[in-house]
This record gives sequence, structure tokens and C-alpha cells, in this order.
Amino acid sequence: MLSGLDLAQPPLMSTQTPYPCPATPPHCPNPDCAYSEAQSGPWPYIRFGSFTRLNPPYTVPRFRCKACRRTFSSQTFETSYWLKKPELLPQVQKHAVSGAANRQIARVLDTSPATVDNHLARLGRHCMLFHRQFMEKASPTVDVILDGLVTFEYSQYLPYEVIAALDRNTSFVTHVAEAERRRSGTMTDEQKRKRQEFESLVGRPDPHALMKAVVEVVSETVRGAVWAHVWSDKHKTYPFALKKIRWCHFDHETIDSRKPRTYTNPLFEVNLLDMLMRHCLKDHTRETIAFGRRRNNSMYRLAIFLVWRNYIQLRREKRCRSTPAMLKVLPAHTLTEAAVLAPRLVVGHSAHPA
Ligand SMILES: [Zn+2]
Repeated sequence: MLSGLDLAQPPLMSTQTPYPCPATPPHCPNPDCAYSEAQSGPWPYIRFGSFTRLNPPYTVPRFRCKACRRTFSSQTFETSYWLKKPELLPQVQKHAVSGAANRQIARVLDTSPATVDNHLARLGRHCMLFHRQFMEKASPTVDVILDGLVTFEYSQYLPYEVIAALDRNTSFVTHVAEAERRRSGTMTDEQKRKRQEFESLVGRPDPHALMKAVVEVVSETVRGAVWAHVWSDKHKTYPFALKKIRWCHFDHETIDSRKPRTYTNPLFEVNLLDMLMRHCLKDHTRETIAFGRRRNNSMYRLAIFLVWRNYIQLRREKRCRSTPAMLKVLPAHTLTEAAVLAPRLVVGHSAHPA
């Protein structure tokens, strides 16, 4: 595929700006400056020259904060800051949730695998903040489905579980967290010896990790509510975890996981989410050679998937015109990858840690 070269674009190295420069920088990028938060009114900055580049906008204005004297440009506030090929970013975002492995994405986009790795990390961080920002405005979820998906990083001897909670009425995924697990099940003596070898290298997993992850996921989901109805399978950790959240009363209903996973199953929404994760995210596909090598990179991809599922993809493939986010609250239309990436988000500007 061509690398986004569009013959309709102005010639390269034109000094003509194809559209007007952004009028006002929203804030100072220096986190220690008094003007580091988004400013509603005028704030003290001056124009400080400009630079030209090969991609639109070809002329990028620079500014200087009069309070801390930090210089910055309009690109400082774009998700594509420092990128020579900004058009790759939304394309990598699309391919990341289409069941492609990193090297396949690189081959299709005619770029290097390292570029794809870097873009996925950047997109993952951005998507975490994007979701955080939305959750701050959303009302608490009180009809919650909770479930875990077991996967692994690097080796099947290093399993971990992805805990997800979603709104039963809208399919909106409210929060996900990961918990390290110890390899369990029937094992041969050789497999036990190998597990011992791994554990001597990286340590034995925290036995309370799952409990901590469930508490985190449910707390974030029902934040602001005093009562919630939780549906889950019969996993023994869930009731203990719910008891730890003292500020909310829970009606906990459990469903046998051997029950047919059909549309009538009360856990249908989370079963569908697990299926989509195995289908769309190559690192969680069963029996793949593209399994996740590092858990943090898998979590970046998961964040990209979560934003796609909640804000871009329609709730159902057929006879549905709404995304889960549209049913949950806010935007009156579906979002595109470019709209999700529109403003660069900054960690300190979110109420909760990313
Ligand atoms: Zn400043």
C-alpha cells in the first residue's frame, strides 16, 4: 500500500499552510507552569517564529509562554507530535483491532515493525486517557457484568487474567485491569520443573493480584453509586472482592459458566466481549505465534481495542446505529479514528491516574 501519499495534496515543502494555523494554544505545556491547565480565557503567550515540514500543515507556528518562557509549537497539542508520517497513526489504530500482528501491520503499511511498536504504545497511552476523560463525565454504572479472560505473556508459564466490567444495558466497557496468575491445572513433572525455573527467574505471582484487580475494576465502574447489581460466573474471588468495596451495596447474581453462552445468557455481553478480544486482538488469539511478549504492550493494544469497541464500533453489526458510548451518554454520532486522536491528551489533566 502507498504510504498515504495523496496526489491531491499540495507539493512537498510548500511553505503555504493549507488551512489556518490553530488560533490559540490551549495552555502552557510546562507541567510546573501556572498556566499548565487548559485555559478558558486569554493567557500570556507570544508568537515565537515558525518551522516548515514535509507534511500538512507545512508551516507550524511556534509560541513562548511569557510566565515560564517555555517555547512550544502548535504540534505540541497534536497526537502526531514528532512524527514524520502522521498519517500512519490512525491506520495503525485501525489495523491493531483487525486481528493483525505487529509485523503484518508494518508490511501492509510499508513501514518498519519498530515504528508500529512505537505507534501502538503512543495510541495505547492516548486511548487510556481518552477513556478516562469520558468516564469522568459518565454516570455510574449500576447493572454490571464482570468476567476474566486468561491469557499469557512470553510463555504459557506466565499467565495473567484480564478482568473486564461492562454495562449490561449498553455493552459499554467501563474498566479493565490485569492480574498475574500462577500456571495451574494438570502438569507433568517436567512442566512443574519448568514452572519452578520461571518462578525462580521472575518471582512467584502475587496470590492477591486477582482480588486487587477485581476491586479496582468494580470500584471504577460503580464510582458514585450507592447500589449496583453485579452479574458474574461462580468464581470464588468475586464475592470477597465485592465485600471490600464498603461504600456501595451489591446485589450479586452468579451464573454457571457451563450454561450455553447464547443471547439469552445473562452474561452474554461479557461473553461477546471475550470473543471479540480473541478475534480482534492477535495477542489473545488461541494457538497463535503472535502471542504477547510483554504484558504492558498487550495492555496498550487492549486500550486501543476498548476505545474502538466503546466509541467507534457500533454495538451490533446489524440493525444497530449506535455505539455503546452513544447509548451510555454524550456524543450524538459515532467517532472515527481521527476524531479520537484529535486533541493530544495530557496525563495531569485527567482527574484520575492513567
Ligand atoms: Zn508556561
